[in-house]
Amino acid sequence: MLAQVSDPLAMVVKQTDDVRIHTFVASFTGSNIANATHIIETQNQLVLVDGQFLAPYAKAFRAYADSLGKPIDRLYLSHRHPDHWFGLGTAFTDVPVHALSETMTFVHDHGEDSRSDHWKLGDLLPERIVIPKQVAAPGEETIDGLRYVFDRVTDTEIDYHLTLRLPDVGVYVAQDLVYSGTHLYLTKHLDHWMRVLQEMLVSDFTLFLPGHGLPADKNEVARNVEYLAAARQAIGDGLAGDAFKSFMLQRYPERRCPGIFDIYMPRLFGGASDY
Ligand SMILES: [Zn+2]
Repeated sequence: MLAQVSDPLAMVVKQTDDVRIHTFVASFTGSNIANATHIIETQNQLVLVDGQFLAPYAKAFRAYADSLGKPIDRLYLSHRHPDHWFGLGTAFTDVPVHALSETMTFVHDHGEDSRSDHWKLGDLLPERIVIPKQVAAPGEETIDGLRYVFDRVTDTEIDYHLTLRLPDVGVYVAQDLVYSGTHLYLTKHLDHWMRVLQEMLVSDFTLFLPGHGLPADKNEVARNVEYLAAARQAIGDGLAGDAFKSFMLQRYPERRCPGIFDIYMPRLFGGASDY
């Protein structure tokens, strides 16, 4: 089924004297999954996080970044799921892309296969893939006067996930560790994922930028922990496939983007792969 493309949202989510942070969210409707990408704007330049999924959203995200009138210094790719990097080939081929080495290797080895596997998306796909060239390693770095802390988080929604924390403004760029107002993409690593979220809850950070949905506070992070606990219980009780999906839809009617079930269930219950 072709995804329906409709109006994305762009918003300023944090503003201080020196820093403005923007979030751009693709549609919540149809089979869209509300991909959220972000811009950290400092005095002289922009740092972007993730490149959107479908071509029209990638182009709109790029147009929004360009409208700020500052050069894009770099883009961080959070992890290897294609809804975060397909858009790089559509709208960011001229931007240096930084990623964990594991993510770079995956896109290098499997990126083109992943693109051809999604042929049903037609002209929503990028014409080419972009392989990240710069390694993002755990640690601290100051970029255009703003302090960043990078972390490599293993075995949660994905095997290797990059997070960015901005301690001076209280912002935690969590991407797919947090699904804000939407159904989560579940894996076999629910216990460890919940521990990572619980660490967020006792941290000093106040704003959590998700990979799907709108910018989140700690209440939403806590709701993610509760969702994962409920899913773990349901799976432990023997629910699988459509029965599991019905249970979760009924338990969380307020959450959007149910299309995610059909993406992860063949992996979680069908043994296609861990992720
Ligand atoms: Zn995602």
